[in-house]
Order: sequence, then C-alpha cells, then structure tokens
Amino acid sequence: MTKKKILSISLTGLMALGAVNVMAQPALAVGNGPGYGGNETVNTSILHTYSDLVDELKTQDAKQEAMKLEVIGKTVKGRDIHLAKFISNPANPTILFLTQQHGNEQLTTEGALEFIKHLGTGKLNSVLDKVNVLVIPMLNADGAMGDVNFPLDQYAADGGRHLTRYNAVGVDLNRDHVDKAQPETQALHNNVFKKYDIDYMIDLHHQGAEQQINGKYVSGSILYPTNPNVKADVLERSKKLGAVVYQNVDRTGWGHLGKYVGGSEERIGRNGAAVQYGISTLLFEMRGMSDHEREDYVLGQKSNGYLIKQTITTLESTVRSIADGSIEKADTSFWDTLPEQSVRPSGEGE
Ligand SMILES: [Zn+2]
Repeated sequence: MTKKKILSISLTGLMALGAVNVMAQPALAVGNGPGYGGNETVNTSILHTYSDLVDELKTQDAKQEAMKLEVIGKTVKGRDIHLAKFISNPANPTILFLTQQHGNEQLTTEGALEFIKHLGTGKLNSVLDKVNVLVIPMLNADGAMGDVNFPLDQYAADGGRHLTRYNAVGVDLNRDHVDKAQPETQALHNNVFKKYDIDYMIDLHHQGAEQQINGKYVSGSILYPTNPNVKADVLERSKKLGAVVYQNVDRTGWGHLGKYVGGSEERIGRNGAAVQYGISTLLFEMRGMSDHEREDYVLGQKSNGYLIKQTITTLESTVRSIADGSIEKADTSFWDTLPEQSVRPSGEGE
C-alpha cells in the first residue's frame, strides 16, 4: 500500500501571513475543503517524541530556579507522566494546563513546551510572584508514541511513528473522568486535582480540520463546562477564562475562534474537573490533528507554526491576566454572540 499523502490547506498558510493577505483572498465558502492547495505530507518526525519531551523537561528543571518537575504516575506501558510546577506561593491562584489526553493532538504539547522554556527565564518570569502554574504535557504518552495494543497502519501521517487518540488499551481518556479506570486518569485525579488547590484549567486539544464559522475555517474553538451540576461561580470564572483567551487570540489577526459544540457529560474532563473539584475550566480545540485514520482530520504541517503560536498566546495571556487580576474584570458577553462552529462533514473532538 502506498502511504496516503495529506492534502494541504492553503488557507492556513495564508492566515499565518497576516490579515492583509487573508483579506485579499475571496471568502472561502464552506464547500471549499482541504485539498485547495495541492499536496503536502505530514511528517510526525518533526514532533517531539516522548523521550525528547522528557529530556527537555529535565533540562528546564535543572536550568530554572522556579520550576520543579514531578512524576505523577505512569502510563499503561510504564512511561512516567510529568507535571511541571511553578509554585511560588500556594496561596496564589493556580492554573493547570493539560495537553494530549488524546495522543494524536500534539501541537498543544509543542506549544506548552515552548511556554515552559520561557516561563521562569524571560520577561514572563515576574508573573510567577502572583500565579502558580502547573503544566502536564502529553498525558497520553503511549497514544502519542503509537505504543498501543491495536493496529495503526491505516493512519495517515508519515514519519517514524503514528499517533492515536486512545491510550494503550484503546480507552478515550477524556471519557474516563468519572470511572477513572485508567492509570493516566488516576494520576491526574489523585496526584494533581486532589493534591493541588487548582482554580483554573485549560484542557488543550485538537479537533478536525474543517470546522468553520462565518464561511471561514476556524483556527480553533473554545467552550466552558456545560454540566448542569457546575456551580454558578465556577461557571462564571470559566467564562472569564474563555474571554481572556478569546480576546488575546482574536487580536493576533490570524486567530479565528468559534464556539465548540460539546457534550455535558461529567466524564469529559472540562465538566468533571469543574463538578468534582470546583475548577473553572476551558476546553481549547486547535485546528487539525497530527495523525488520524481520517485525512480530513489531519492538517498539513505548514500550519504547525501558527497553531503552536496559538497555544503559547493562550498560555501566556491567561497567566498574565490571572497574575494582574484583570481576568476578574473580563467581559463574558462575547459568549452570547460567539457563533457555534459547524462541523463538516462530522467532527471528532474534545
Ligand atoms: Zn482531544
């Protein structure tokens, strides 16, 4: 069998060039799908492997005074799951960034790693006096490395490995937040959610490549917890968290966010963390996945740069707004008019 080639999506490349070029293009109707710009491969070898990631985390741990690296548990296949901690004062508000519950959604991890590299060293450093930051990059390391007990040979990407949504035994970790049957979910709940006093969480994912609002592909979508048992104040702070993210991504010019259409079940992390621990949560779905059986879910790697940047923008802007308290005044009214994305042809997300 010839390895399938992924069709590129030239729109995203144009978006990365900035608003002027985007405006010069005819508005892309929903019917103009990927494949618009010709062929492109997706090569997973440009992504950090699990061991690359761990090496980088250890390097940063040694280099950054403010950082502590903790192992919170192991995956099914025995990989250590890491938590990067920047805790200056436990009384400060605390935010958790979680990536790659789904192993094939890796650009969120790439962005989180860049964020970690600069958090305790650069001009962001001063925020750490006012906010505690926790990052779990690549919760589902087995899925990310394709080290699973089911075949992945129909997956689309080229490169040294395939990446899959599920953990090694085929469980969707983001449907395991009530049962907590998997070691990855247990590590997250027992050693992070229960152990730290977390105020906010952004759960970072990727969705299919073809969602749109207003006739244009989105760069991502966001949603607050929607389970009916979420307390009103937790929900309100979740909406404020979303407002900070929306405003900061939108003002880049290339960011184009829709409202995610998602379920209200507690077993989804966005809902479960809010109901069970009173954590204000936001789901952020970046556009397109790193690998998948379905070609329309995978995005050409030319989009990697702006999607990684979208992650970094999200993480930096939220820690700044929590540190300076501006998140408290964030205007949540945009949620009332933010268009729900339409999913074409059908979307796997969250
Ligand atoms: Zn996901």
